[in-house]
Amino acid sequence: MSLKLEDHIRQVLTQIEADGLYKRERNITSPQSGSITIAAAGGDRRVVNLCANNYLGLADHPDIIAAAKQGLDAFGFGMASVRFICGTQTLHRELEQTIARYLGKDDAILFAACFDANGGVFEPLLEAEDAIISDSLNHASIIDGVRLCKAKRFRFTNGDMNELEDRLKEADQAGSRFKLIVTDGVFSMDGYIANLPAICELAERYNALVMVDDCHATGHLGEAGRGTPTLTGVGQKVDILTGTLGKSLGGAMGGYVAASQPIIDLLRQRARPYLFSNSLAPAVAAGSIKAIEIAEQADDRRTTLAAHTKRFREGMQAAGFELLQGETPIIPVMLHEARLAQDMARALDERGVFVAGFFFPVVPKGKARIRTQMSAALTTQDIDFAIAAFTDAGKSLGII
Ligand SMILES: *Cc1c(COP(=O)(O)O)cnc(C)c1O
Repeated sequence: MSLKLEDHIRQVLTQIEADGLYKRERNITSPQSGSITIAAAGGDRRVVNLCANNYLGLADHPDIIAAAKQGLDAFGFGMASVRFICGTQTLHRELEQTIARYLGKDDAILFAACFDANGGVFEPLLEAEDAIISDSLNHASIIDGVRLCKAKRFRFTNGDMNELEDRLKEADQAGSRFKLIVTDGVFSMDGYIANLPAICELAERYNALVMVDDCHATGHLGEAGRGTPTLTGVGQKVDILTGTLGKSLGGAMGGYVAASQPIIDLLRQRARPYLFSNSLAPAVAAGSIKAIEIAEQADDRRTTLAAHTKRFREGMQAAGFELLQGETPIIPVMLHEARLAQDMARALDERGVFVAGFFFPVVPKGKARIRTQMSAALTTQDIDFAIAAFTDAGKSLGII
């Protein structure tokens, strides 16, 4: 039996390869940063990195590494327990309270990843008589979390506020008790920012709650990096925030939900990825507390990040590339065909620029792209080097 399954799997893999959709991982031999080394046949090669979620450049920050080492020494390597049995150290509560204070919420609850936070947040809060109204481009973890919840599901086309209003009306007609609108704060594949003022206005009008997954914003967007609610001026109108410690905030791992006290208290009792999965490692918790302290004060890094974003956008536009418009450090270079995105990624790799091609199933078919991401860890020279490499590679492949 298992041999037959493996034959079938080999066919699937061959098809993925034939469709140009096969993803290969490259091995990095340095810490994560703006300039990294990757393992290559003739020895390590140094490349400019344009594909990390390391927006503030904190992934190799010496103060965060020192804090993580202190956490390791004072609190040990691992907890070998879920939180409610014997896996809660003062460190975990300190991190939760740091997140809550940073985001202006009563409390926060940690998960092993934001994938788990989104996977676990809906099911305890909403039941069959409730409704979730979700943006069509929301992250895979939100889609999975919504599937695990018994509430009725409604979907609106990305950013379409008329459709959102229609769905709210439909949810009311279906007799929904509670309604929750859920959106990414920044849509990771396109770099678009959610229209939170309109969403919050509709939420008020239709008596719905708002949840924002701010993974691609917290730390680098908005006042003090507090994310899209401050960036768009809706402040505390967002009821539930989810986010990650694996991007701007040091880039290690871990996710959280931040919200009012009753919501967090119920998640602690009922959220399945919280109840049935191990506690965050002490070193990660200690380093993440320091990362949030640094992020809150990091206007210099946010200014550098914004300057890089502007410089790269303008340079790439001048070179003739098709970019998706936007203001975030996510700058997608549209190539449409998966194979071309892969060829371009390879050509850039040869020219010393590390990027990732994105194609189906991560983005829709025909919308393949290279998603570049700016980082405060990059230098102005790195940006200019990258634009020159894109231009040269683009010409050699007949893209520009
Ligand atoms: C990265 C990301 C996640 C997953 O976060 P992890 O902590 O890496 O699991 C969830 N939602 C969005 C929008 C993301 O960009």
